[in-house]
Amino acid sequence: MSQDSERRPIQRMAPDLALKIAAGEVAERPASVVKELIDNAIDAGAQHIRLEIREAGLKLIRVTDDGHGIPRAEVELAFASHATSKIHQWDDLEQLTTLGFRGEALASIAAVSRIEVQTRFADETVGTRVRAEHGEILEQSPCSTPRGLRISISDLFGNVPARRKFVRSLRAEGGQIQSVVMQYALAQPGVQFTLSLDGRDTFMSPGSGNLADVMAAVHGPTTIESLLRVDWQEHGIRIEGLISRPSLSRSNRSAISVFANGRPIQNRSLIFALEEAYSGFLMIGRHPVAAVHLVLPPGEIDANIHPAKSEVRFARDREVHGALHRSIGTTLLEMRLNRTAQLDTHLFATVEAEELPTQPALGGSLHAAEPVGAAPAPSALPALRVFGQANQTFIIAEGPQGLYMIDQHAAHERVLFDRLDLQLEAGEVQTQPLLEPASLAISATQMLALEENEELLASAGFDLEPFGSDACLIRAVPALAGPASPAQLVSEVLTELENLPEPAAARERALASMACQAAVKAGATLDVQEMRELVSQLERTLRPDTCPHGRPTMIHLSHSQLEREFGRR
Ligand code: ADP
Ligand code: MG
Repeated sequence: MSQDSERRPIQRMAPDLALKIAAGEVAERPASVVKELIDNAIDAGAQHIRLEIREAGLKLIRVTDDGHGIPRAEVELAFASHATSKIHQWDDLEQLTTLGFRGEALASIAAVSRIEVQTRFADETVGTRVRAEHGEILEQSPCSTPRGLRISISDLFGNVPARRKFVRSLRAEGGQIQSVVMQYALAQPGVQFTLSLDGRDTFMSPGSGNLADVMAAVHGPTTIESLLRVDWQEHGIRIEGLISRPSLSRSNRSAISVFANGRPIQNRSLIFALEEAYSGFLMIGRHPVAAVHLVLPPGEIDANIHPAKSEVRFARDREVHGALHRSIGTTLLEMRLNRTAQLDTHLFATVEAEELPTQPALGGSLHAAEPVGAAPAPSALPALRVFGQANQTFIIAEGPQGLYMIDQHAAHERVLFDRLDLQLEAGEVQTQPLLEPASLAISATQMLALEENEELLASAGFDLEPFGSDACLIRAVPALAGPASPAQLVSEVLTELENLPEPAAARERALASMACQAAVKAGATLDVQEMRELVSQLERTLRPDTCPHGRPTMIHLSHSQLEREFGRR
């Protein structure tokens, strides 16, 4: 049979078929049904939300809330598609304060399950009970029920066997449901959530209104000792939440949650901005624990871009990303300053300042400029006494708290990075013109990176000019670059700037790459003066213990560790 003869005429779908198909977007899996029902309970102003789940929701999803309920006259309508009490005209979307607004969840879920609702509206004395099967209302009757609403969904996807098959493992889907509930508990600390899976209570949030209490319930009570409070306001964007100190981290991103006006959202680039602020504080491959709430005027968030409303668009996307990045970065820096202030009170200096060389060492690159502006920041690293160098790579030093082995390259990277960072901030990066412009062959993606980051590169001390489609002329490079080859420096920096997942990362990447190129290499012999100079500069940085890529700059062996190793304790 030819393809043509298989063609059937165009027809409008019957409404129930259309609904059953559309239901796939909202009621994709049990966890997404749970999400919609929680949205509804929160929108109804519930303070307590109880969820009972059997067989990962395939057998039963029951959600009981103490919100305002639905008036008897409207209960049936709630099951119709495009029926909602939350918006009545397009403009209402601009002032949206509810999680739902599409009026499709109950209709979609009803199309693929059996539902029973019992509800009593705020000022009604008798409640209403409605039963429906595959979208068809079977029965409505009065009933006695507390104020609020209880919805029970059974035989989910019973009439869509294919969808049921996609729920492969009940255990995994149960876990997914639990994580949805936890996200909402973090999103709404004032609401108490209780979750029971197959008769076992597996999660409960306190509903105290305190985010730290929910973090303890979600991530374990010990985590709260390691949390820092974020409280930030910028251009009408409020950012509040709790983030982990660098001492607490995870091997994946599952403990990072971002909320926009009380709605859990999936947004990779926001998570990226958050993690970027941790760079230098956490080892590569480690991720923070965080629950961060963004609060914006409702008109600046578009939640109408994703059927499950879990992705949103911000009118001022760049500002939101910038504000998040700065709020986290500042919180971490303040932590570092406070911690060092505490440390300083019980530390004593062991190095006499006059011992330090006043002449430039290391080809001048360590001395290119003193940090601009403020007085030297207090350091998290005590003053150290340098003994010598091991394997032309590690500096061995002693401090009041034991022995330190310092990676000379990583340490110098940190020093240069911090210095560049300060200079760039102050708009004072020193540049060094080349006697003769050098030409460098570059790839198409490097060219793109050059064009996209023109301003950043200029403020970082580069003077570069595209030359044809596959080369650039180098007229000047940052003075800090020292003896490194200008062509290699430019090429490395452009490579770092290729395919950036997020523009906010460009600055850090460029500076880290410059610092790496200019830093003294492993294998270089340093004399004691040079090592002392490097160590004293490292002491003055804000994050002496990691290089800009997040690798450690040093290993510290405390006196007690040494004593233990030698069997003295
Ligand atoms: P939406 O939430 O987008 O309005 P739904 O299909 O989820 O659409 O719900 C339809 C309507 O039913 C809601 O607008 C709301 O008025 C009502 N409703 C649903 N669940 C509840 C609940 N738990 N408590 C009170 N009213 C509810
Ligand atoms: Mg809804």
